[in-house]
Amino acid sequence: MNVLVLGAGQLARMMALAVKPLNIQIRAYDVGSASVVDPLNTELQYGDLSAGIEFADTITAEFEHIAHDVLAKCEASGKLKPSSQAIKTGGDRRLEKQLLENASVANAKHKIIENKSDFDQALATLELPLILKSALAGYDGKGQWRLKDKAHADDIWLDIEAFFAGGEQGVKHAVVAEQMVPFNREVSLVGMRDVHGNTKVYPLTENHHTDGVLTVSVALETAVELQAQAQLMFDKIANALEYVGVLAIEFFQVGDQLLVNEIAPRVHNSGHWTQQGADTSQFENHIRAVCGLPLGNGDLVRPTAMINILGEDTVPNEILSIPSVTLHWYGKSKRAGRKMGHINVSAQTNKQLTERLAEVANILPSRAFADIQQYANALS
Ligand code: ATP
Ligand code: MG
Ligand code: MG
Repeated sequence: MNVLVLGAGQLARMMALAVKPLNIQIRAYDVGSASVVDPLNTELQYGDLSAGIEFADTITAEFEHIAHDVLAKCEASGKLKPSSQAIKTGGDRRLEKQLLENASVANAKHKIIENKSDFDQALATLELPLILKSALAGYDGKGQWRLKDKAHADDIWLDIEAFFAGGEQGVKHAVVAEQMVPFNREVSLVGMRDVHGNTKVYPLTENHHTDGVLTVSVALETAVELQAQAQLMFDKIANALEYVGVLAIEFFQVGDQLLVNEIAPRVHNSGHWTQQGADTSQFENHIRAVCGLPLGNGDLVRPTAMINILGEDTVPNEILSIPSVTLHWYGKSKRAGRKMGHINVSAQTNKQLTERLAEVANILPSRAFADIQQYANALS
């Protein structure tokens, strides 16, 4: 079976690695160069999008910000899963909020802002502090403004107007203003829906961010009620989209309630731990789903956490001497803050995982990996 992945980054690469044993071939469409490449060696090129569509039995995506004409062309071939509508919903916060409202899924109070009058109305009807997010093209906390104090409203509006003016021409720009949620923590759920509508999920994962970028994820094995709540929301969203593949949902946890922050119509950074902590990783399950194969289960087989490697292209090899530590590089050139790879740490018990995370933290340069130790506290 042949699969074309739209996007040629680390997610396509990890899908390719995951399904080699299933004899599934992955090629990736690099949107930058508009060429089809081998995701394990992007120098190897296989022609344009049409050639990629021709090659593929199934087409899927590794990210949601894909030009609509590319999505349309893929969808016209009848091979695209999930649907272009599902992918677009993940890439446009207006559609995303609409989906959450239509599916009756709890989320932060918000208002969509396209002009000054919308902005004024948001200030009048929502409680400060607010977070304002670009409707399009936002990721890793980019395209966001925080408004804590009405005195700064004019400045922020000028900034947003400039942002609209500097954006792509001929596109209707907007920001979504959300009330800041006083969350206790952030968690996410990665799950999958097959072509028949069956769903399975992995356990909730606790996530920690530094400067808006995910740094550490810890799979949670004991959150029974929270897990049920998250799974119900997953089913509502995935069914509303008639989704096929892996879908991730980011939540704010407030007390024992979950509010959806956003969805990602793809495999997700907070699901990388599944490579070592589950029988079937999110990467394999995504490809299984879009290829019409049965889903592997999402149960946690052993306590596992993931640490992102940001902006560094080496780590001391010594970490590999710690039992059940695996290192995953993405083969990307070094750039400050860039996601370069990740480290998965597994153990037999939460206590042992806490100890191993502490060992890893001791070996890693603290400048780049501050606070890992503290995240291990999630387990104790
Ligand atoms: P990514 O796609 O990389 O996860 P993003 O750019 O889409 O990031 P969000 O996930 O919407 O951005 O927001 C980034 C972070 O900002 C969140 O993980 C959370 O810590 C904080 N944040 C976002 N919205 C809110 C909110 N309404 N209340 C409180 N904190 C928020
Ligand atoms: Mg996002
Ligand atoms: Mg997010």
